[in-house]
Amino acid sequence: MTAPRIPILDLRAEVDELRTDILRAIEGVLDRTDFIMGEDVTAFESEAAQYLGTQHAVAVNSGTDALVIALRALGIGEGAEVITTPFTFFATAESISMVGATPVFVDIDPDTLNMDVGQIEQALTERTRAVMPVHLYGRPVDMTRVMEVARQHGLKVIEDCAQSFGATWQGQQTGTIGDLGAYSFFPSKNLGAYGDGGLIATDDSDLADTARMLRVHGSRRKYHNETVGYNSRLDTLQAAILRVKLPHIDRFNAHRRAVAARYNEAFAGLQHIVTPELVPGHSFHQYTVRVLGGRRDELQQALAQQGIGTMVYYPIPQDQLPIYRGQYPAYPHSQQAAAEVLSLPMGHMLGESEQAEVIQAVKSFPST
Ligand SMILES: *Cc1c(COP(=O)(O)O)cnc(C)c1O
Repeated sequence: MTAPRIPILDLRAEVDELRTDILRAIEGVLDRTDFIMGEDVTAFESEAAQYLGTQHAVAVNSGTDALVIALRALGIGEGAEVITTPFTFFATAESISMVGATPVFVDIDPDTLNMDVGQIEQALTERTRAVMPVHLYGRPVDMTRVMEVARQHGLKVIEDCAQSFGATWQGQQTGTIGDLGAYSFFPSKNLGAYGDGGLIATDDSDLADTARMLRVHGSRRKYHNETVGYNSRLDTLQAAILRVKLPHIDRFNAHRRAVAARYNEAFAGLQHIVTPELVPGHSFHQYTVRVLGGRRDELQQALAQQGIGTMVYYPIPQDQLPIYRGQYPAYPHSQQAAAEVLSLPMGHMLGESEQAEVIQAVKSFPST
């Protein structure tokens, strides 16, 4: 199959716009040869902390590692249960399993596609230690209610912000409301590096200190290892690239919101398409519609034939994956979402004519 004319995400325009600054940043690293934990890493950590409005930011190798290290920093492991959503990328549940704990799923709210916060209390047991909400597609979870339930039951909160860098809940950055926030800089994320990267945000000095210890083989002092940790540093080269991109993130996210608004308006009259709500603070990592009447795959094929790339995030809820299958009850709303969702081309540099083509193609799909 040939590559779609309009891919779901195209990074070329961004690379073209930022190329000069990025090359200069890379040259700075080459000049200093401080490839591991160099000055751009420290500088990026303080710039990210300032942007997010958090006391501490700890840069790590990936979003997955950010989740794992956040869990470990809280002392969550064998025997513990962590409540999360089944409708997410595998890394969410995987991080919980990786530290030896058990993911406990609650179904999603069909209107937001995020964890149904009202179901957390029913999922509690004496082993529950934490809640891990995911701001899916960049839509902020109702963190006010998450924090209420968490406080009431003495639970820790780790926000999976892999898809929500720059998204806000009631004006506050996602990832800075719970005990820890875990971000990913995978190239396709809203703030993407040109390789892997991740970050942990927290206001708690002890948690930040433990996370820093864990990311370098469990040592605070070189060759004085206290525990089994990780080799999970953010590369200096990636930090240098992220420093170039961070000052643009609000503009990038504003563009995404404008694209989402335009799509929503264009699709408003379509009976078979449910559009995402343009809630305040949504960073539209993905623009994801629901296609009713069992016609999602048909629409996806029709768009592919016109050279328009789309993706299904995610076709299989976590509880249905081979690793977890048979261990959980049914989550009907997640299952239905997995059968109906379709993400359309979105990006912080998606052009006017591409948007118009996507709109035209979706609108010309017969409604019956
Ligand atoms: C991308 C993603 C991750 C993992 O981030 P990586 O940097 O790829 O390890 C975790 N959770 C969610 C919801 C994601 O989308």
